[in-house]
Amino acid sequence: MRDQASGPRVLLKRLRELMQEPLEPQERLDRIVRDIASNMVAEVCSLYVLRADSVLELYATEGLNPNAVHLAQLRLGQGLVGTIAASARPLNLSNAQEHPAFAYLPETGEEIYNSFLGVPVLRAGRTLGVLVVQNKTMRHYRDDEVEALETTAMVIAEMIATGDLARLTRPGLELDLRRPVSFTGLSFNDGVGLGHVVLHEPRIVVTNLFNEDSEEEVRRLETSLGSLRLSIDDMLERRDVAFEGEHRQVLEAYRMFANDRGWVRRLEEAIRNGLTAEAAVEKVQSDMRARMLHMTDPYLRERMSDFDDLANRLLRQLMGRGPEDVAASLPKDAIIVARSMGAAELLDYPRDKMRGLVLEDGAATSHVVIVARAMGIPVAGQMKGAVSMAENGDAIIVDGEEGVIHLRPQPDLEAAYAEKVRFRARRQEVYRELRKKPSTTKDGVQVDLLMNAGLAVDLPQLAEAGAAGIGLFRTELQFMVASTFPRAEAQEKLYRDVLEAARGKPVTFRTIDIGGDKVLPYFKGAIQEENPALGWRAIRLTLDRPGLLRTQIRALLKASGGRELKLMLPMVTELGEIAQAREIIDREVRHLSRFAHHLPTSLKLGAMLEVPSLLFQLDELMKAVDFVSVGSNDLFQFVMAVDRGNTQLANRFDTLSAPFLRVLKQIADAGVRNHTPVTLCGELAGKPISAMALIGLGFRSISMSPASIGPVKAMLTELPLDELEAFFDDNLMAPAQGLPMRALLQAFADDRSIPL
Ligand code: PEP
Ligand code: MG
Repeated sequence: MRDQASGPRVLLKRLRELMQEPLEPQERLDRIVRDIASNMVAEVCSLYVLRADSVLELYATEGLNPNAVHLAQLRLGQGLVGTIAASARPLNLSNAQEHPAFAYLPETGEEIYNSFLGVPVLRAGRTLGVLVVQNKTMRHYRDDEVEALETTAMVIAEMIATGDLARLTRPGLELDLRRPVSFTGLSFNDGVGLGHVVLHEPRIVVTNLFNEDSEEEVRRLETSLGSLRLSIDDMLERRDVAFEGEHRQVLEAYRMFANDRGWVRRLEEAIRNGLTAEAAVEKVQSDMRARMLHMTDPYLRERMSDFDDLANRLLRQLMGRGPEDVAASLPKDAIIVARSMGAAELLDYPRDKMRGLVLEDGAATSHVVIVARAMGIPVAGQMKGAVSMAENGDAIIVDGEEGVIHLRPQPDLEAAYAEKVRFRARRQEVYRELRKKPSTTKDGVQVDLLMNAGLAVDLPQLAEAGAAGIGLFRTELQFMVASTFPRAEAQEKLYRDVLEAARGKPVTFRTIDIGGDKVLPYFKGAIQEENPALGWRAIRLTLDRPGLLRTQIRALLKASGGRELKLMLPMVTELGEIAQAREIIDREVRHLSRFAHHLPTSLKLGAMLEVPSLLFQLDELMKAVDFVSVGSNDLFQFVMAVDRGNTQLANRFDTLSAPFLRVLKQIADAGVRNHTPVTLCGELAGKPISAMALIGLGFRSISMSPASIGPVKAMLTELPLDELEAFFDDNLMAPAQGLPMRALLQAFADDRSIPL
């Protein structure tokens, strides 16, 4: 009787020797299958490799007809081999020909063999091929033999992945590993990026597969697992890592898995079969991932990704590597591919080397996306499975316009995208040229184009985009990317940096607008609300937590010493709220002057017009403040009773519909009537067609994302305002032929060649 544990060990030792010998790839494969057959006392051992055209090709065999090598083929899903590849699961059969999936390939001469054991060749959860042993007798292969064949398959996976077999493929055919793939998800930020994959959590490549001493390897595994568990506990305790609630949940899942006994047992078993601890982690992980790929339960798949990340961390521990120094090793056209990421982690990558970001998860409003948008990087999200299909260094295209990515693209696709990038660059060049021109309509009326901002990373855009100032500084973003309430000094520093970067151009700071969809995980006072958009948010919340508001106002007052401070209040519903806020501001001014602080030269207080109640007291509102800024995102949401984040309703109601434009006209008119400056800072300002409408309705100052300034200015300089005003006189209250206002506006622009 053979020693069951030593069988695989002897085989792995043989394979190690074979890998080191200077052999041609086909010769090496032939010897490998021969050795496996003899070690497992099988009459046949064959290797099938998956090609990019989803065909499994016989690459080597011991026992079957040698003339069938590189000729015998099965489609993915066809026959026993195709079934194993498609399901990524082994098949262990004592009478193979009885299996319903059995397909007979006459060229191989396999009809005389009854028992069959086939295992998938897996790498990072992907099937690269199938390894099979067969016997004439009707035998059932033992579990340890299945395990041994799986371990051997891992060695072959490594050969395939390192390109060792590429020379054996016929011209025009490619192995599946290099197959081009495209994913469709969501667009989180416009733009197109061509570059090379940088996995945010790089997969570690294990090169040392076979161990010399199993007991020593088990000890190494235990030590590393111990350190891993400690480091997870440590991360959970360190509050600065928990940027987001999601992040913390992931860490908690890590902790649970790191203590999972089943996992540890499987790792130890793989080591006892002859693998190094590193190779054991990879093998167990690959098996598990392949099995989970076929699960549709999103929760389980999510947990699998947690497990993947954990395995990667364990590998780093075993190999004694710290987190990679990302900046140093980054290609100059890096496209970061991550499952999910904290906002602060993105800021660790140097902006000048990043061409795009791909996320498996994420939402348009997640913090990392807000930061990426501020940095002007194309972002595509919800790309399920992208991480496991991508290898570091693979060519990749991120199409943030369409929400699509192309991994290992074909040359013609790459060429088409390169042209698209050149086209966009030429357009940017036109916009840059426009910066030098005055910001006026064709007939000479001045319109200020301001930009929206919220983080220090936005500031360089002020000069790049040629904005006249910052019309909306969303101060809550600093709170959203932090892990605890930013201290007064940190707030003051940011505000000072903003004013300095603005070099005298106007900046309007909005007091923190949290609540609704903007949640701070560390803010304890928040309650579960049924309608958060209508709930305890913005000015409502800060008036109830005056300490928060006071700290912020004090920081703003100090930062703008010797300069003008423009401050505005979000989500004002009634005028009493403005009066209450003013009282708090006045008290802070008195306090600071008592201590001889350098105060702002002037202080202008404005209100955001986002809640319809203000529409019925426009004159009173205009008199109560120094300026008004329309938050069209929220105002539209409340006027039309449509949740701004609901994708199902996203295109249902038109922001350029006559009733909403009439509302905007009333606001602009009330501003003129009361000599109160009115601006608008919602998304509406950033689209050339709607910016045109706003200017026609009387707005002379609008604030938008920096990337929109170029296109809007291109429209502005071609706009004959007198004609547009006449158009509105005729159409606003009675649109021509009952047509939608958007269509009429589009026709107005088309007739005059105004670029929209
Ligand atoms: C708005 O509501 O239009 C606005 C500018 O504010 P936010 O998008 O930050 O709610
Ligand atoms: Mg708003």
